[in-house]
Amino acid sequence: MVPVIALVGRPNVGKSTLFNRLTRSRDALVANFPGLTRDRKYGQAEYNGYNFIVIDTGGITGDEQGIDAKMAQQSLQAIEEADVVLFLVDARAGVTTGDEAMAHHLRKIEKPVYLVVNKTDGIDADSYAADFYSLSLGDCYQIAAAHGRGVSGLVETILDPLLETFPDIYPPEQDEFEPESQLAEDESAPDEVLSPEEEAEQVLMKRAIKFAIVGRPNVGKSTLTNRILGEDRVIVYDMPGTTRDSIYIPMEREDKQYVIIDTAGVRKRKKVNETVEKFSVIKTLKAIEDAHVVLVVIDAREGIGDQDLSLIGFALNAGRSIVVVVNKWDGLDNDVKEHIKSEIDRRLGFIDFARLHFISALHGTGVGHLYESIDEAYVSANKKITTSLVTRIMKMAVDDHQPPMVRGRRVKLKYAHAGGHNPPTIIIHGTQVTDLPDSYKRYIMNYYRRSLDMMGTPIRIDFKEGD
Ligand code: GDP
Ligand code: GDP
Repeated sequence: MVPVIALVGRPNVGKSTLFNRLTRSRDALVANFPGLTRDRKYGQAEYNGYNFIVIDTGGITGDEQGIDAKMAQQSLQAIEEADVVLFLVDARAGVTTGDEAMAHHLRKIEKPVYLVVNKTDGIDADSYAADFYSLSLGDCYQIAAAHGRGVSGLVETILDPLLETFPDIYPPEQDEFEPESQLAEDESAPDEVLSPEEEAEQVLMKRAIKFAIVGRPNVGKSTLTNRILGEDRVIVYDMPGTTRDSIYIPMEREDKQYVIIDTAGVRKRKKVNETVEKFSVIKTLKAIEDAHVVLVVIDAREGIGDQDLSLIGFALNAGRSIVVVVNKWDGLDNDVKEHIKSEIDRRLGFIDFARLHFISALHGTGVGHLYESIDEAYVSANKKITTSLVTRIMKMAVDDHQPPMVRGRRVKLKYAHAGGHNPPTIIIHGTQVTDLPDSYKRYIMNYYRRSLDMMGTPIRIDFKEGD
């Protein structure tokens, strides 16, 4: 679980500049949910070692008379979804009536709000900042988003108080590499003794597999969750206390433990006679972060939309295993089926490691087979990879296909070691590796995927310069 930061403020104060700066470090992981969220943009950020989600509320349209109404439409939901709110103002513009209207609202909400004065570059910021105390939101934090000045200090200030609430705020430690000790460990550990089946079994016995059922509204998430819970072979346990986010349903099937992360709120709805839950992007993103395996449900009748791609992009960036579930496969004409299949080929090529299931949650067709892919993905993501093995595979890949020349010198891959599980991470050391073209990186990745027989999980490969 990571905290959520919302950026609010008038247009032009620098929200998207700050958003881009905060999200940049983890490559294009910004999700737009057209139609669903109007102008809100969501990004997973990893900044100065902190993990969080940031929401940019781009488009308060600037009619400063009606700012409350405008905020009601979209900033309010972002504020509701957030753990911390950053209220941006423009140092150069001074306090405007739009700022005052927003401050009026923000003073009433019950979560931390930080007043952030942006564009303090090249001006005597202190004298400008004084003005903003009139907004009665306490201290102001001066930054220049465009240049990065003050941003890491700000992130520290707002996130440090949340460290206890959000244990995942720091990314999992990557094992520091020590070649000798790694190799020594390899030799002492008789890892070749177990057959792949035995190893898989061991991995599956270890702990419950958490799988999240995610997708746009109406794709059939609740229907699928209910179908799973209603299956004969499934034993559903009483839930421990529900969280404010998704609902966690522990269950058992064929002696294996699972936890469904139910973003559609099936269980809760049953209890409290609630109306249908609002689709929440944040809830979905958190479920993805917390799951071992993400079931992305797609509606065969709707095809693959940008929202589906955004969700998949998030799961991929979070390093999660993915199973693609094409639902409502009942009663479709053959040409519709062909159409969606070719759409999948075309648009989901970037997750060709993910298993694909065509099911009918309504009738139960194909639902039982989902566990095969869930188990497989989990086992793949947690497979034991040793230094000797990944180095051997790297050498085979290089023998089959040499890295290209860059500026007259051949890129050299020297050795590899494991950098962690979930997703399996492999670190390759060499010379000039930062110049490797993407095509060769992909080649190496696919080579590992085939050699290690890893389906369902992304594989992360980091290239490091030098020894
Ligand atoms: P938004 O509408 O609040 O998302 O604002 P933008 O991020 O689009 O920024 C509006 C304008 O302010 C752009 O021209 C930015 O380049 C500029 N801007 C943003 N941050 C800074 C800053 O720190 N210093 C200066 N001088 N300009 C900035
Ligand atoms: P959610 O918003 O993703 O939880 O979607 P629901 O589970 O509420 O389903 C939305 C609608 O799709 C409902 O009317 C369901 O009956 C229907 N639906 C769900 N699964 C299937 C399916 O496999 N086949 C068909 N034909 N309809 C389905």
